Amino acid sequence: MLIKFTCPQCETEGSISLADLRYEGPYKCWKCKGLFTIVIENDVLKSCEPLSQEEFDRQQEIEALKAKFRRQ
Ligand SMILES: [Zn+2]
Repeated sequence: MLIKFTCPQCETEGSISLADLRYEGPYKCWKCKGLFTIVIENDVLKSCEPLSQEEFDRQQEIEALKAKFRRQ
């Protein structure tokens, strides 16, 4: 499932592929490279917070671990 997300910083639309109905995790704008933590539930954006590069890297590691877990 692909969800459209509009960057609050530059208003460029990007998309996120979701495995579940709920997504909570990092998003990086392909255009302005803005970093955000977003929460999406049932196609609706619930929350969007700016994120630091350090925190983004950390969250990506967590997401990678989760993905690894799901494959097993
Ligand atoms: Zn942007």
